[in-house]
Amino acid sequence: MKELENGKIHLDLQEVKPLAVAALQKAGCNQENAEAVADCIHDAERHGAHSHGLFRMPGYLASLKSGKVNGHANPRLSKSRPAVLAVDGDGGYAPLSHQKLSEPLALMAGEQGVAMAALTNTFHFAALWHEVERLANLGVVALACTAFKPALPPAGGKKPLYGTNPVAFAWPRTGNPPLVFDQASAVMARGEVMIAAREGHELPPGAGIDEKGRPTTDPNKVLKGALLPFGGYKGASIALMVELLAGALIGERMSFEAASADNNDGGPPRGGEFILAIDPADVRSLQSAEGLFEQILSQQGTRLPADGRRNRCSEVARNGIKIPKDLFEKLAV
Ligand code: NDP
Repeated sequence: MKELENGKIHLDLQEVKPLAVAALQKAGCNQENAEAVADCIHDAERHGAHSHGLFRMPGYLASLKSGKVNGHANPRLSKSRPAVLAVDGDGGYAPLSHQKLSEPLALMAGEQGVAMAALTNTFHFAALWHEVERLANLGVVALACTAFKPALPPAGGKKPLYGTNPVAFAWPRTGNPPLVFDQASAVMARGEVMIAAREGHELPPGAGIDEKGRPTTDPNKVLKGALLPFGGYKGASIALMVELLAGALIGERMSFEAASADNNDGGPPRGGEFILAIDPADVRSLQSAEGLFEQILSQQGTRLPADGRRNRCSEVARNGIKIPKDLFEKLAV
């Protein structure tokens, strides 16, 4: 740890996890839950995904302190139907449930070709690539999505109704890390808008609207108004699908329901996650995909999704990270 002149604190990457674990434990997490969340935070920082790294800690801590989230959660798994793994997150943060469900879900997919995890009674505040990448590393194709609190209007509307509703997809590869994409249904994630507000940056045109529905690039006005779905009505339909899969289908709250039940302590609302795992029937399906990846990369200016964040790892490992001093002070115990 080193204090810099610009009001920031420099941390080496290996300092991130212990800092997060200690703060989470002090706020009420047991070791197992603290480690699971801190692993996600460390991985986000390692991959340069700062909006899901230590930046999220005040929200995690606030929801433990308010008693909304169970820091001693013990997720329970049961097969509710032959291809459905019901996971009750026991009111805890989602990462521990992800650790516990991955191997059983991949095994079920292996036996039956396809399996779905219905994760309920949980609080998801992280990037989704962690869970789909873990599944792809176990050899299955994975798709996951989760809702949040209203941030996006429906197509044609001006008031937030859908969450930023990310969808993540992972495809196993032989001899290479999985292909993974993980994207919000919004033009950009809300965490990025919050960081832009904190740092005093403008947003790109088209990212959001103010409270009266007028286009704006001011992040503070967008936080009071609404973000916009990517691709207009097409992104709005993806956000709608996420509400249905990760809410209505699995018996959890949709974003508008989650918001009205939430205590607004700064952390995530209670919600659910839909996770699908598909076993590639034949290793040739994976091999044939390699031809597509080659075709993509043969075009100048292309890269595969996830290679961007993986390439950022070496820079973070070399240079560490910088966080605002007031954030560090909230975490140091
Ligand atoms: P980005 O727009 O930054 O990236 C979306 C995806 O596109 C990534 O997989 C990225 O890969 C890929 N990508 C970007 N540029 C290219 C390119 N030139 N060629 C190929 N692929 C590319 O992410 P979002 O802002 O949409 O989302 C950020 C995060 O926020 C996600 O991780 C999401 O899970 C999280 N989130 C979580 C929520 C929650 O409730 N828990 C709510 C909303 C969002 P790469 O990583 O390699 O750049």
